[in-house]
Amino acid sequence: MGANSDFVKRDTAVVWHPCTQMKDHEWLPLIPIRRGQGVWLEDFEGKRYLDAISSWWVNLFGHANPRINAALNGQLQQLEHVILAGFSHAAVVELSERLVKLVPPGLTRCFYADNGSSAVEVALKMSFHYWRNQGRHKKTKFITLANSYHGETLGALAVGNVELYKQTYAPLLMDVITVSGPDCFLRESGESWEAHTRRMFAHMQQTLEQHHDETCAVILEPLVQCAGNMRMYHPMYLQLLREACERYGVHLIADEIAVGFGRTGTLFACEQAGITPDFMLLSKGLTGGYLPLSVVLTRDEIYQAFYDDYTTLRAFLHSHSYTGNALACRAALATLDIFREDKVIENNRVLAAHMGKSVAGLAEHPHVAEIRQHGMILAMEMVKDKHAREAYPWQQRRGLAVYQHALKRGVLLRPVGNVVYFMPPYVITQPEIDLMAQVAAEGIELATREN
Ligand SMILES: *Cc1c(COP(=O)(O)O)cnc(C)c1O
Repeated sequence: MGANSDFVKRDTAVVWHPCTQMKDHEWLPLIPIRRGQGVWLEDFEGKRYLDAISSWWVNLFGHANPRINAALNGQLQQLEHVILAGFSHAAVVELSERLVKLVPPGLTRCFYADNGSSAVEVALKMSFHYWRNQGRHKKTKFITLANSYHGETLGALAVGNVELYKQTYAPLLMDVITVSGPDCFLRESGESWEAHTRRMFAHMQQTLEQHHDETCAVILEPLVQCAGNMRMYHPMYLQLLREACERYGVHLIADEIAVGFGRTGTLFACEQAGITPDFMLLSKGLTGGYLPLSVVLTRDEIYQAFYDDYTTLRAFLHSHSYTGNALACRAALATLDIFREDKVIENNRVLAAHMGKSVAGLAEHPHVAEIRQHGMILAMEMVKDKHAREAYPWQQRRGLAVYQHALKRGVLLRPVGNVVYFMPPYVITQPEIDLMAQVAAEGIELATREN
């Protein structure tokens, strides 16, 4: 018995893992990690794995980053946590000042929570409550896009649209209005991304026209629907939506929890459309992948609609125990320092271009329908029939075969469905990208060999 399997026995006796059918672990080994360094994770037996998915899209500058470690050590000597209601601390104020300067102009208020789903809940409640404070009691609905994902708590699940996560809980979820989205994988052959995106906006336009009176907000993931199989679209959609929301008096909630902090090639995805949403949600990369933290940024006008004498009961009485945790805020500040001191966005352009080149050969693969990329997110969609774009039956778990092969070769790839993707930490090198691409190509070949 090796060190890994000894440890795994202890684990599976007491731990219930997220997003996992635990029975799979009768034959699919869990991997215990004893240390991380840069893009590399090391298991209990010394085998190393390149973390090509940034440990579920959170890590930006590598594991055990010396600069973030140092900042956290400093914070630990001062203050680990303090209640944020009635109290404050340096890290949360500094972080808020810096975020407000970095996000699209007009977002001037920061409300903190401690994970992405909670930030979604905050934004939904805040939008609803804003309209209520304005006397608009009919506004109780949210509009969401097909194939969207916003987290797992009940409100976030309700506004998401990934069947696999949602269907079971349907009886518990609030009603939402779901609109066909701009997902460019579904474009007509020969149609450009921009033309498809424009054409699909007609559905949103129609829905807003019909439902704006009862709608609080539209919520969407700018540019990439990550959990929805890394489907992508053109920034034009965000521009059209921003204008339409303005016209119809409906809030726009931009969930940048996954795409924020440089993933799509700009610090925030909304920048590519030049828009300011009414609410912008950040988490995941916010702390460089160190600690759970999320923030909802909003406009002053929204903040002011809650600002009144206590007895009017207009205040936003929402909290989480760890709201604005000092260590998490300090990790976020250290992360922003790295963006400021290194030319991260600029350097990423070179890495992104290299990533694109490294898998270009797969474009002709008979079972790869498409290779798509927005900045540091690259996805390859495996299909049964390339021309009809016919999906493999989900029961065949082709993505899992890629995952297993990659692990053997020392790369952590974790396909979503049949989509193999890269979303690596920004400290990855070109040779490491080449390794990741080589292993992905082998995995895809293996997984699609049998029809
Ligand atoms: C991950 C994710 C969430 C949920 O964040 P958690 O921290 O996992 O609750 C919400 N929205 C998007 C777009 C995400 O990718």
